Amino acid sequence: MQSGEARVALVPESVRKLVALKAVVLVESQAGLRAASTDDNYTQAGAQISFDRAELLQQADILVAVNRPAAADFAALKKSAVVLGFLRPLDEPSGLEPALARGLTTFAMELIPRITRAQAMDTLSSMATVAGYKAVIVAAEKLPRMFPLLMTAAGTVPPAKVLVLGAGVAGLQAIATARRLGAVVEAYDVRAAAGEQVKSLGANFLEVDLGGLKTEDAGGYAVELSEEALERGRQLIAKHSQTNDVVITTAQVPGRRAPLLLTADAVRGMKPGTIIIDLAGATGGNCALSKPDETVEVNGVTIMAPLNLPATVPVHASQLYSRNVTSFLSLLIKDGELHIDMSDDVIGPSCVTHNGECVNKRVASALESVTSK
Ligand code: NAD
Repeated sequence: MQSGEARVALVPESVRKLVALKAVVLVESQAGLRAASTDDNYTQAGAQISFDRAELLQQADILVAVNRPAAADFAALKKSAVVLGFLRPLDEPSGLEPALARGLTTFAMELIPRITRAQAMDTLSSMATVAGYKAVIVAAEKLPRMFPLLMTAAGTVPPAKVLVLGAGVAGLQAIATARRLGAVVEAYDVRAAAGEQVKSLGANFLEVDLGGLKTEDAGGYAVELSEEALERGRQLIAKHSQTNDVVITTAQVPGRRAPLLLTADAVRGMKPGTIIIDLAGATGGNCALSKPDETVEVNGVTIMAPLNLPATVPVHASQLYSRNVTSFLSLLIKDGELHIDMSDDVIGPSCVTHNGECVNKRVASALESVTSK
């Protein structure tokens, strides 16, 4: 169990799969309760329930977690132990120093390459899917209007208008959810490829002339744009946000601060009652006025930047995460034994620390710049 976290890393369905791989699965008592999995459910799936966290950590060859374990938990593990979870290796590299000091082998779910072979292990996409869905539900709950077009005896109620910034995994799920609730949706992204996907969901794609600028890297991710290119996007966004009732922002550039897309002036130009849900709060936010995990009101506009929306849908978020993690574990466990093949094109790139060294170059240089400060 981790404080402030309702998800669990393994659900009973996955325990069954791991037991079939001849692994012994130990589960901390009540770890799955908030994700609707009881100790009995785990026992029936073949797990052993542990009531003593310290003993559990000491016994484990592999610790499967949702978030990065606390320093004390890293210290309680065996030196040969393996840890996997969302370890925040690039945005909080110093959090891995205790694992490094202990000589643990750590795998960051964030670093699993998004290659076809690793699709079933893509925890980032799983959580982004949940966050994109839930952002719309939170916005709908806050919005002083209804989402669908209604024709009633008292007259017509127009549909809500939703603007989605960033049409990656979270953005596309937000578009699909808002459309299902009956909203009229428009979306913006710097990657031209996102345009077709936006349109296929029945939304309007906003385009900015960036003069043929390269906006995408070889891996399909957005690159960091020049200030001038960003400004062109901001102007279009400021104009369109005046007519929308909800703005959901999901824009990210891997390893960088989130791009600033909604300025304070743009927010001041919005209608009272508009709801902004900023899903980039953990990396600095897409809206200049958003504060991580807080709700801010400016001129009647509500700005929310929830940091862990997936944890507010713990059953499905845990189920998806657990399936992803179990696919990854099936690469590490052979006949009940732990085998780490660092030459594997999924295992190697997702490993952060191994044998007392930081084996990921990007994380090592991020760690170096933190420690040299
Ligand atoms: P992400 O979370 O890094 O970024 C979210 C979105 O923000 C992206 O669509 C990005 O283009 C957009 N963005 C960045 N800077 C912006 C700016 N200045 N203005 C507007 N939008 C901006 O990305 P993600 O959702 O994790 O996925 C991004 C890409 O990776 C997508 O093309 C997706 O289809 C692809 N992907 C591939 C696989 C796979 O092949 N297995 C899996 C998942 C995602």
